[in-house]
Amino acid sequence: MRAAVVREHGDLDAVRVETFDDPEPGPNEVLIDVRATGVNHLDLWVRRGVTGHTYPLPLILGSDVAGVVREAGPGVDDLSTGDEVVVAPGVSCGACPACLAGRDHRCRRYGILGESRDGGAADLIAVPRANVVPKPERLSFAQAAAVGIPFLTAWHMLVDRAELRPGESVLVQAGGSGVGTAAIQIARLWGAEVIATVGHEGKGERARALGAAEVINYRNRDVAKAVKQLTGGRGVDVVVDHVGAATWTGSLRSLAWHGRYVTCGATDGAEAPVNLRVLFFKALSLLGSTMGSKAEFIEVLGHVGAGRLVTVVDRTLPLAEVREAHRLLEAREVFGKLVLVP
Ligand code: ZN
Repeated sequence: MRAAVVREHGDLDAVRVETFDDPEPGPNEVLIDVRATGVNHLDLWVRRGVTGHTYPLPLILGSDVAGVVREAGPGVDDLSTGDEVVVAPGVSCGACPACLAGRDHRCRRYGILGESRDGGAADLIAVPRANVVPKPERLSFAQAAAVGIPFLTAWHMLVDRAELRPGESVLVQAGGSGVGTAAIQIARLWGAEVIATVGHEGKGERARALGAAEVINYRNRDVAKAVKQLTGGRGVDVVVDHVGAATWTGSLRSLAWHGRYVTCGATDGAEAPVNLRVLFFKALSLLGSTMGSKAEFIEVLGHVGAGRLVTVVDRTLPLAEVREAHRLLEAREVFGKLVLVP
């Protein structure tokens, strides 16, 4: 099979499409013919390397996979060859208290396909049965592969961590990103009002089409000032952010009293100063979030499958053009998701 692999960290040429032996499904695993693989920022981190973090190189990229069951491994009796499926991106031990409580993303042995074990930017992948979910009929493979990390992450941030309630207001930073396009819709689904920020004028209309009532171009406006104007000086109840240092100050200043800031990433830098007086006096909450449980994945996939949430596929590219996908994502020339197809 072909697969997009990183052998050493580096620039675009550090990811290459090579030929490997076909994987075989072990006990309680399923071998899947990959039809589509979502490209995430995580892929860029794995390719470039992150200071202080060791990735198990060489590593096949690809966390979000949709495809067709080729073979059910020993012990799997409820899936058959030809079943159309989606793969949950998180792998965990299945036996610890966190896993048994349905909090598998808090498992100490939690890992992500394409990050801690070989992923599905490939022709084939073998994954644990527990990760395999039927593909909703109305979704194409590309649409199904665009659900994964962005929707799971945004769902967990808003629903679990920030405990969003109807009628609240949400600022979604980088509303044109994979997580951003998911967060706008999930906040609307939960009955919240959404303000989104974008870095390109052209993304504004598309953010509105997803449900953002207001859009702020963060390149030419002071985000916090604009948010205060739009909310009558009050600010928003929840800020969803994954940009990091570049948006931090604006995010915090945009919060209403008792507001919650929830972050799942630091694309633009991880050091962010906090004024503790503002923190305690305004009774703000700073919330970290990463991934979500398999049950949440099934839940959010159900909403996408029913059409209540839509995946935004910017474009599909052949697996052989994985470098071009990385270049586009790095250049932020993308609205929604890039998806690799065979
Ligand atoms: Zn566990």
